[in-house]
Amino acid sequence: MWPTSRHHIVWRNGAGEVAPIIGVVALQGGFAEHIEVLESLGATTRRVRREADLDGLDGIVLPGGESTVIDKLMRSFGLADPLREAVSDGLPVLATCAGLVVVAKELEDAAKDQQTLGLLDVTVRRNAFGSQLDSFEGQLDIDGVGEKIPATFIRAPIVTRTGPEVKIISRLPDEAGEASGAIVGVRQGTITALSFHPEETSDDRVHSRWLDELSAV
Ligand code: GLN
Repeated sequence: MWPTSRHHIVWRNGAGEVAPIIGVVALQGGFAEHIEVLESLGATTRRVRREADLDGLDGIVLPGGESTVIDKLMRSFGLADPLREAVSDGLPVLATCAGLVVVAKELEDAAKDQQTLGLLDVTVRRNAFGSQLDSFEGQLDIDGVGEKIPATFIRAPIVTRTGPEVKIISRLPDEAGEASGAIVGVRQGTITALSFHPEETSDDRVHSRWLDELSAV
């Protein structure tokens, strides 16, 4: 039953209060962790693998993993085109790590034959921290979400160009601790995309604020 007592979220769809149905693209990568956080916040989740799984969703999560594999599977399952269409029609998206790569318009370093959904007007550099700094954790401020949000970076991409419609919501701190480093969080319309994995931490503010926003639509 929606809302949960913890978050006081009220979801109305004209037929009363119901839990939002959140799709999580479940072809490869870290979809189970997103499902766990979303369910703990009172959402109903659905693993999305095929076009029919998109029916009636209130939002969709594109998880981390390996973007080249997710791209191939999305195309071979016939999911890429209907997903692109649903998001263009306004289906809200939360994309994390490889998910950011998958929604981006342009990649600096696409793998051979790698395609993207081309929905978010940014350029992305994959594996931006190189093999020296494969994975790390930190705390970030994210506009509209909060401060000192724990963030896990795993072979993470960064955003190197943002189009005019794109709002930067998070950057890595520079050496002085100011948030003026690489762009790691962006929004454009109903798409929120992050370089890191908020679902790998015990802080659920990213998912909870995202669900709040869906309920306000
Ligand atoms: N480097 C991966 C890619 O390009 C993303 C890694 C991740 O999602 N943790 O897809």
